[in-house]
Amino acid sequence: MNKYVYLFGNETADGDGKMKDVLGGKGAGLAEMSRARLPVPPGFTIATAACNLYFENHNSVPPEIHEEMLRALRVLEERMGQRLGDVENPLLVSVRSGAKFSMPGMMDTILNLGLNDQTVKALETKSNNPRFAYDCYRRFIQMYGNVVLGIPKDEFEAIFDGQKKRAKAKLDTGLTAEDLKQVIAGYKKLVEKKTGTPFPQDALEQLVGARDAVFRSWNNPRAIHYRRMNQIPDDIGTAVNVQAMVFGNLGETSATGVGFTRNPATGEKAFYGEFLPNAQGEDVVAGIRTPLPISELEKWNLGVYNQLREITSMLEKHYRDVQDFEFTVQEGKLYMLQTRNGKRTGPAAVRIAVDMVEENLISKEEAVLRVEPQQLDQLLHPVLDPKAKKSLRQLAIGLPASPGAAVGRIVFTADHAVEMAKQKEAVVLVRKETVPDDIHGMEVAKGILTSRGGMTSHAAVVCRGMGTPCVAGAEAFNVDEHKRVVSVTAGGQNIVLKEGDWISLDGSTGEVFEGQAATQEPDPNSGILATFMGWADQFRGKFGVRANADIPRDAQVARKFGAEGIGLCRTEHMFFAEDRIPHMQAMILARDEKTRRKALAKLLPMQRRDFTGLFKAMDGFPVVIRTLDPPLHEFLPKREELMVDIAVLPYADIKKKRELVAKYERFGAEVKTLKTVLPDLLKRVEELHEFNPMLGHRGCRLGITYPEITEMQARAIFEAAVEVAKKGVKVIPEVMIPLVGGAKELQNQKKIVVEVAKEVLEKAGMPDLKYLVGTMIEIPRAAITAACVAEEAEFFSFGTNDLTQTTLGISRDDYTSFRKDYEDRKIWTSDPFAVLDQEGVGSLIKMAVEAGHRTRPDLEVGICGEHGGEPSSVQFCYRVGMDYVSCSPYRVPIARLAAAQAAISADKTEAMRTA
Ligand code: PEP
Ligand code: MG
Repeated sequence: MNKYVYLFGNETADGDGKMKDVLGGKGAGLAEMSRARLPVPPGFTIATAACNLYFENHNSVPPEIHEEMLRALRVLEERMGQRLGDVENPLLVSVRSGAKFSMPGMMDTILNLGLNDQTVKALETKSNNPRFAYDCYRRFIQMYGNVVLGIPKDEFEAIFDGQKKRAKAKLDTGLTAEDLKQVIAGYKKLVEKKTGTPFPQDALEQLVGARDAVFRSWNNPRAIHYRRMNQIPDDIGTAVNVQAMVFGNLGETSATGVGFTRNPATGEKAFYGEFLPNAQGEDVVAGIRTPLPISELEKWNLGVYNQLREITSMLEKHYRDVQDFEFTVQEGKLYMLQTRNGKRTGPAAVRIAVDMVEENLISKEEAVLRVEPQQLDQLLHPVLDPKAKKSLRQLAIGLPASPGAAVGRIVFTADHAVEMAKQKEAVVLVRKETVPDDIHGMEVAKGILTSRGGMTSHAAVVCRGMGTPCVAGAEAFNVDEHKRVVSVTAGGQNIVLKEGDWISLDGSTGEVFEGQAATQEPDPNSGILATFMGWADQFRGKFGVRANADIPRDAQVARKFGAEGIGLCRTEHMFFAEDRIPHMQAMILARDEKTRRKALAKLLPMQRRDFTGLFKAMDGFPVVIRTLDPPLHEFLPKREELMVDIAVLPYADIKKKRELVAKYERFGAEVKTLKTVLPDLLKRVEELHEFNPMLGHRGCRLGITYPEITEMQARAIFEAAVEVAKKGVKVIPEVMIPLVGGAKELQNQKKIVVEVAKEVLEKAGMPDLKYLVGTMIEIPRAAITAACVAEEAEFFSFGTNDLTQTTLGISRDDYTSFRKDYEDRKIWTSDPFAVLDQEGVGSLIKMAVEAGHRTRPDLEVGICGEHGGEPSSVQFCYRVGMDYVSCSPYRVPIARLAAAQAAISADKTEAMRTA
């Protein structure tokens, strides 16, 4: 029989720490801590599989699982010497979600369950604290009413605030037990009005209601959104943890808190966290009251502090990773409520991995596997320029909750953040505190600033997870979300900032500045990151990482990030520069070869200069240069625009005519000639007009129609190579022909390249300079006929942007309009233009790599589409036997790490096979 309910506590447990799939992260941690004989309030975990069965069974838990839960409840009652619903000695429990992967604050939790009109009296007697007992009860009705019965929170809050007004209480704590009884009466009336039935008094009915609501919360919109963002599968479900309550709000000797064994923002080895005396857990996590730093716990109760430090360092050694823990102190006694591997920022992940190797806690191999490649992104992005910091007015310093610089315009709501981000505005979301419903706005914001909450508040935790800079708990700010203003006193002056004003945050120091600060590039080759990347490179071995770079400046950045060559230089980008586009346009407008060659001759020295810079930057590393690819009309004015300008011309006054001359000057327009130049231009634009330019006259097709273009580009490449090689730089040119569908097209273009190379190299006295001619594989036909293509090609580079477009038959520019429908219906689990479709496009790649190698064993194979910097796609490329990946310069370290991780897992698989 399948087991769905697992007991823990009393120094034993049915499960253990390895069973995260079954018990969820929280359940597994509780089981493991119980086994380690730590003080854990006893309870049981209902397995994640029950969540799926709940949904399959029309939103109800199958009877056999319900029975199993009742049996576990009996054991729990025996262990506690209490019974659920007992009027004298009632068992009170918390009911919490807990999936395999931590999803902070996304699902629901209910505390103090088991309270009703009778049991609250027992709690009153036992605690000898009526205020405490009625506060617990009103909190429970509020949470249950909201989470289980679906009554909006603010309706409860209105009743609570009304009572505060009547009692003239400023703070919640100003309400007496009698006031709270009034609140409870109001709450119960509200529940009856909203649901048609009284608030459930039966404790078992409460438990069933809470359990089912936690299961349901797996599919609430914010949990779904969070899973999408973090690529957590939808079908793994959440577990439900039912645990005996311990109370951190039982007076001044009680407290509740959370912490980390190391700093999760920087990785520094320092005991880290915060707590609140006389409070319940949710008060800390929700960021409603600003908690005290954990160092204060030492003063508050030295014994508890020492015990907590001892337990948590033992847990860190046991799990060999940073622990994120929750605890409660009830009348001076410490209880552990949770431990799990802590989420951390990219900088912290790297530092912790390196430190733990140095502490002999983990191996270098483990260290390399510990950091998610994508997390490196946070180390590779700009920080606030120290000079800019000095020149701007500092408004306040909050908590450095998530590192990095954020510069943007202030917005006060998540929806507005999304709206502004759609208009390509950089925004900083400013809130009193964030709540899980803000997740969509937090995702698009450059940074988050909150005036309340601590280092473990919702904003802090979520931002660290997403790698978004965050300053939290900056209490100097007075945020008025309704009026959409934030005010602060700085330097004795009251400053009011409105929506749309610029603000700059430093998430590493907590500083907040007025205005738009400049930012500074990070240095990937310094300190801990360099050590870490050095280890990754050892494991990566010969598998190369190159960069896509079109101009010398990008090539230099790429080298700094560790690129071992250029995998794609899109030469057309060079033609868009201000000084070149006129020659490019002249070349396109030419109606005969002679005129075209004249324009090309002007472009030749410019291209040569660009290539010279690239070769110099890549001394000793290969440089793949692609011949012209985009359809020519991209270089000309838009057809519709031209038609409008022609239509207005007869009515244009001199001012308008001058404007038109300025616009069309490069096509020979003067005030007098506008009438002839514009229609002529339109004629050529119409000749070039295509219904589907992406599948039209582009790529090698251009070079086939206009061989002189390929010829000029080849000349520029080899003349640059010769010039640089003569200065002692080692040049390795690789000429790449785009959009080839088969061997014949390549043969045609290769002939031109080889002839030019021969002429230029011989003339320079360097006939042996080594170079390659190869092709992009970005059309399915090229992949299918790869064996023949490889007879001509000395290298393949998979252009997976086009290969995805052509294989899926989906335009890469238009797919976003229906992407959401596909993802909602789970037809795609991720964007195929970002994450390689391994099943479809990947099969073509695998086939082409194998066929290519059969024809030409030393064929060099790489990828230069966007997927070349995406970790799961990089790992795929490694597995199918490519030689390198190529990606944008900033993603080079990410690709290096992903490749190292692929190499480590490949080694492990190999070891298993041969063992
Ligand atoms: C590709 O198609 O993957 C590619 C790299 O070329 P482009 O994006 O320039 O079409
Ligand atoms: Mg392409």
